[in-house]
Amino acid sequence: MIAVQQLEKSFGKQHILRGINLNVQKGDVVAIIGPSGSGKTTLLRCLNYLERPEAGLITIGDAAVNCAKASKRDIHNLRQRTAMVFQQYNLFRHKTALENVMECLVVVKKLPKAEARERSVALLERVGLGDKLDAYPSRLSGGQQQRVGIARALAINPEAILFDEPTSALDPELVGEVLAVIRQIAQEGITMVIVTHELAFAQEVANHVIFMEDGQIVEEGSPQELFVSPREERTKQFLNRFR
Ligand code: ATP
Repeated sequence: MIAVQQLEKSFGKQHILRGINLNVQKGDVVAIIGPSGSGKTTLLRCLNYLERPEAGLITIGDAAVNCAKASKRDIHNLRQRTAMVFQQYNLFRHKTALENVMECLVVVKKLPKAEARERSVALLERVGLGDKLDAYPSRLSGGQQQRVGIARALAINPEAILFDEPTSALDPELVGEVLAVIRQIAQEGITMVIVTHELAFAQEVANHVIFMEDGQIVEEGSPQELFVSPREERTKQFLNRFR
């Protein structure tokens, strides 16, 4: 469903991603963990070309991109496959919750307004915001804004949802409500890749966990393998910091 081969990404002289290989099956919930600066977010952003890798192959569904010679059409095609949930929500400030979710259905998917509205209302209800349809982001808590972000990601029916540290910007008391929504949609079988610092959540919700350090995948496996009996010394050291 998602396959990455030998992905390379630098920022100037800084070599960030060093030959990443990754496989995500349909319905997988993959958590990417690792120390700050290890390249987790960069990897996620490369998957939908918010960052442009220099080399490697990315395949999502039947869209395949050879990063060394990607055309605009390849990139456009790849981007259609996924939706991103951002750390800072990235909502339109001057649009209501409902309008934020409707936007891409009307503008990109060209759905009639009434249909886009109906679908968006249902999605906002699904993330527990049925009573906030007409609220602007400034009137919503961080947790509520992020739930709008998740409804927006679900709206386009993507093949996979990419979550970039979805709870990092939240006050601790608001983290739970967002994790609960992610947990709920994970159970619905939607393919997800989640970059997160919430290790307990990763252990609980993911079926596959990837530990990254210095732009490489050091170790990957089931939550049991990675959290309970890690093989690599570097994984053990990282986990020990949280115990
Ligand atoms: P964190 O957990 O702190 O978010 P991360 O593992 O997600 O870290 P990245 O955000 O991918 O790490 O960053 C990896 C490295 O790339 C860091 O050294 C960062 O400073 C650098 N970097 C990321 N984005 C850019 C950019 N747009 N320009 C230059 N350097 C960048």
